[in-house]
Amino acid sequence: MDSIIVQCNDCGAKNKIPAAKQHLGPKCGKCGQRLNISQNVVPVELSDTDFQDFIQDIQLPALVDFFSPTCGPCRMLAPVIDSLARKYFGRLIVAKLDTSRNQMTAMHFQVRGVPTLLFFKNGQPIDQMVGAAPEQDITQKIEAII
Ligand SMILES: [Zn+2]
Repeated sequence: MDSIIVQCNDCGAKNKIPAAKQHLGPKCGKCGQRLNISQNVVPVELSDTDFQDFIQDIQLPALVDFFSPTCGPCRMLAPVIDSLARKYFGRLIVAKLDTSRNQMTAMHFQVRGVPTLLFFKNGQPIDQMVGAAPEQDITQKIEAII
């Protein structure tokens, strides 16, 4: 699982935050102040092992990018997904799943091509977009569910 490094605004300590815990209000390990991580947020990389638990536990809606590392349109979409993760931090959780290594989850949600974006609310898929859609179109979908 990925992690991010966030410097504390108060004491300057560098904190290593697991990507899956970014949305849980992490605090500085040294001084206990809440960390401002909105500029450091990255999509949470999920796998067959942790996908269901993560999606069931989160309190916010989620956007999951089903991608494959060898797919050109997926690579084009990746910076858009990264930017949406920061833009909607606190309102929407952005995650991604590598379908080449996690086929069970992809099959479970009947993802047939990549990239596919699945939108979740209350642990259930409620909408999807297939293909590398323009950021504006993705934003419209997000605004409709948050
Ligand atoms: Zn601190």
